[in-house]
Amino acid sequence: MSDGFRVALTFDAEHPDRPWCPPGNAERVLDTLRDHAVRATMFVQGRWAEAYPETARRIADEGHLVGHHSHYHARMPLLLESGFPQDIVDGAAAIEAATGRDPRPWFRCPFGAGSDDPRVRAQLEALGYRHVHWHVELEDWEPWRTGDAIAADAIAGAGAHGDGVVVLLHTWPGGTGDAVATMIAGLRDAGARFVTVEELETLP
Ligand SMILES: [Zn+2]
Repeated sequence: MSDGFRVALTFDAEHPDRPWCPPGNAERVLDTLRDHAVRATMFVQGRWAEAYPETARRIADEGHLVGHHSHYHARMPLLLESGFPQDIVDGAAAIEAATGRDPRPWFRCPFGAGSDDPRVRAQLEALGYRHVHWHVELEDWEPWRTGDAIAADAIAGAGAHGDGVVVLLHTWPGGTGDAVATMIAGLRDAGARFVTVEELETLP
């Protein structure tokens, strides 16, 4: 199509899942997005926003869409009774304090856990949120995944899905920091146009 196929790059901005990650990686990802004029969607963990308020603030200031990725990064189906809304409310307060943005209605469950659980979906909805899943994941959390491999798989996966594809990434893996510029260039060569999840009529 003339105006290209739409790609939503989505990043979970959170404390690393691994014992070591390159310092400054989230800032490097944000630098690359800014340098290439790409708006992304960032699902921000509340406790990460508390720890890195200046980086979290950049997400909003540089035009990315701010979503919610829980406060403690627990598996949402394990949170019972008042624990569930408390995590959401605490996370939203931390995200809003750091970014100045209310993350509603965008929410991504940690690990995607609970995305198909009716109880989780109903509780999210009652609090004004909807879960945003993804079409393409790149295992960018694995330490052995190189930037070149992540970029190549993102370009192939997004192309295979086509218009409206949602790609899952994380702000902390070094491989992702290495991949973003190549990924953007390759996707643009393939005809991609970058959007936030807000601009897509149907979401996974
Ligand atoms: Zn996460």
